[in-house]
Formats: sequence, C-alpha cells, structure tokens
Amino acid sequence: MLIPHLRPAGLLLLSLLAPAYAKGPLTSYADMAALLHRVERPGFITVTEEGRSHQGRSIFLVHLRRGAKKAQCRVLFYAQQHGDEVAGKEAQLQWIQELAQHPEALPEDVDLYLMPMLNPDGAEAHTRLNGVGEDLNRDHILLEQPETQALHRVARRVQPHLATDSHEFERAPGGYLEKGWVFWPLITLDAANHPLIPETVKSAALERVEGARTVLANAGIPFNRYAVGGPPPDAELRPSTPEVDDGRNSLGTLGAVSFIIESSVRHEIPDPQVDLPQRVRAYRALYDHLLGDVSWRRRVVGLAEEARRAPLPPFIATNVFWANLGGKVSEVPVRELATGRTLKVPTANAMTDLVVKQSVPTPRAYLIEARSAERFRPVLEAQGLRYEVLGAPRRLKAEPCRLLRYEAPFDELYHRHPSRQIVARDAARELEAPVGSLLVPLDQPLARRAIQVLEPCMLFGLYSYAPFRALAQADGTLPVLRVVEE
Ligand SMILES: [Zn+2]
Repeated sequence: MLIPHLRPAGLLLLSLLAPAYAKGPLTSYADMAALLHRVERPGFITVTEEGRSHQGRSIFLVHLRRGAKKAQCRVLFYAQQHGDEVAGKEAQLQWIQELAQHPEALPEDVDLYLMPMLNPDGAEAHTRLNGVGEDLNRDHILLEQPETQALHRVARRVQPHLATDSHEFERAPGGYLEKGWVFWPLITLDAANHPLIPETVKSAALERVEGARTVLANAGIPFNRYAVGGPPPDAELRPSTPEVDDGRNSLGTLGAVSFIIESSVRHEIPDPQVDLPQRVRAYRALYDHLLGDVSWRRRVVGLAEEARRAPLPPFIATNVFWANLGGKVSEVPVRELATGRTLKVPTANAMTDLVVKQSVPTPRAYLIEARSAERFRPVLEAQGLRYEVLGAPRRLKAEPCRLLRYEAPFDELYHRHPSRQIVARDAARELEAPVGSLLVPLDQPLARRAIQVLEPCMLFGLYSYAPFRALAQADGTLPVLRVVEE
C-alpha cells in the first residue's frame, strides 16, 4: 500500500496509509478516473463531470465538504491546464486520497473544490496544448475551449473565495544553463495582479506570497516569488503579466483571492520526473500555506465578499507595464552547476512595480453593433455576462473607438507575448443604436469581467484575436462602443 513514486521523504505518515497509486510515476487519465470513483463518498466527497474535452474525456470536479453549515470558505484549486505540467495534479490526487482516509484532516470551515486535470487530452499526450492545439491559459477572454468553459462555469457557480492555478516551468532554461546556473527555486508562487482587482485583495494575497518564504524555508523547500524573464544581471525579470487571458487573473476578477503556483522541472536531465515526489511535496506545502488557518480564511472570505460588492473604480487602467522604480538592486538566487553552491546574483533588472501609464474613464455600458452581435454573443454567454438585445432603436451617448494598428513583434517595454493593440478613443456623440445591437451594462455582478473582455482601449485585449480584429471597419472603427450616457 505504499506510494513508491509519490511518497515524499519525511511527509506525514498519512500518505503511507493512502491507497496505492497506479503504476508509473504519473497518474493517467484512466487511473485518475478510477481513483476518483473509488474515493467518492456521499456527504463527504462528491465527484462530478463538469464538461468534456475535445476528445471526449471528462473534466472532473471533486468537492470535499465536512462541516455542512460551518463550511464557509469556498476554495477552488485547479491544475494541469497545461497537460505536460503534472505536479499540481499529482499533489491534488494525493491530497484527495489522504482526506478519503482521514476526513478529519479537512478543516470544518472549508468547502474544498479540486479540479486536478483541466486538460485531460493534453495530459494523455503529455503536451502543453489541448486536443485541438490551443493554449488553455490564453483562452480566458474568449472562452472558446470546453475545458476553460468548464472551469468558468464552476467558478461562477461556486464563487470561490480562494482560488489557485497550478503550473510547472523550466527550472534550468537555456539562458541560465549557458551561464552554468540552474534557476534555483523548486517552487514559486504569485498572486493575481490585474489593475481592476481591488488593492485590498491584491495586497493581502501578496502578503501571503511573502509569508510562504518562511514556511517553505522551514520545510527545506527552495522557494521564490514567481518571476518570468531571462538570467540576471542583464536580462529582465518580472512577475507574470497583468492581463486576464490566464486563469489566475480571470478568477481574480470574479472576486476570488487568486494565486498561481509554478513548480519547476529540470528538462535537461534524462528523467525530468525523477524529483516529482519533491515537487509534489512542495506543492502540498504551498496548498497548505494558502489554505492557512481559520483566521486567514475568515479574512479571505471577507476580502472576496467585499471585492464582489466593490463599486467599479472611476478610471480603468488600460496601459500598464512593469518597472523598477528608483533602480533598486535585488539579489536573485541561482544554483551554480559546477559547484552546487547557491549564488545570489545582484540585478537592477528585477521589475517589481506595476506602473499605470494610461487610464480611461469607466463607461456606464458597452454597446456592440448589430452587425457584430452574432460574433460576440458566444463570448458573452461563455463569460456569463448579462446583456440586452435591443428590440427597438435606442438613443445613447457613446464613444466610438478606432484600431490604429496592431503590433505583433515582441515588445521590449511591455515584455509580453506579442499582441499589442493601439486604439484611439473618439469624442462621445449622440447616436441611435439599431435593433439587434447588444447592450452590456456595467451595473452587473460581473462588471469587471465585462470590462476586461470588452474595453476597446485595453492595450492587450480582444483585438489581439484575429477574428475580432477582422470586425473593425476599413477606417479601423471597432464594433464595441463605450456608452457614457443612456
Ligand atoms: Zn503552465
């Protein structure tokens, strides 16, 4: 009954009591389905199918709940949007098995929802992308894929207070290896960072990220805040993008205190899964840390409930980038391959400050022209946004917007995957919106999602997708107008 491949050294005795994992270091889709079926128990563990992948595999949600009325903190941890990033899924399956054996280990105030394998087709093929070659973690605006649609349906139904996306990244990417280093941390954590997420939520989440340093150091697990970019001191390092086409920010704008975990894999060694037990152990430590104690969870519930009720800000940040204000010098830990020593490389290229360069006043609603209504409706439906189809012409005052250009080359300043849209906002004018136009009001619970999906002035937004770019008229006029008076 041991778990030969997944039992981390020194972990709780509980894991010794859990049912055996299936053969091999990685749990297959079929093994996972059998395992979930086995642990299901009325009143404690419920397994539901929330959607089907392109190749017909189930996308499972596992709901664990012990405290009935006491369970007030709703937690949604999801994993394996990228099929070849496995540690989060394995950690969740291990956790589920332990809880099945020892229900008392689940705090009574926690309503726990786990989605261990969001991309079963990619998992089976061991590829990042889903069954039709799409990157799910870039599909949170359009929600065209069944896997992301399933996650968002669950998120809107459950309304989690706490959410965590689970990934893996390359621990020793080329630039580091050329310098003779390994990008050292075994696991990293960051919080959602989109400007529309209330500051109270983002700062509490960042506190939790910083708090993980001590917890993981005490557990002997190399940890750092999640950063992307090249090797210091010359290359830029920064937190992830503040855009909403990923799970962490998109669940953040639904109101959850939202995180991303990235454990790191050594793809340069013959068997990258050789340290999977360590990565799973690191994952478990971070899941525990994010779940925290009852006082942290009460705070999380309060923050999330407040975020859902929070009025929209008067201005929307449309153009933001990472910077290092004042040129602070910080140290980046890396492991020197030749000696195994940990080096601390000083750099002024760690960009930790999010700068808002441009904002637009928050409109009252968005108007989608009748001619583009059919293209937009599936997006509005998948996002669960409330909208009105005009049955009679309506007089409004609105700002048209024009797409001046779209820039695909990599951008040094914004340091993001290419997809920058440059949009001009014209003066507001009275107009008569024809029958069949769609009106998306911003006095709705998902107003922040509506802004993120529809706001034409966003530097990285809807028009980074070719089908929506094609909806612009010959002079660049876009099909979404900013309604300033109804
Ligand atoms: Zn990933």
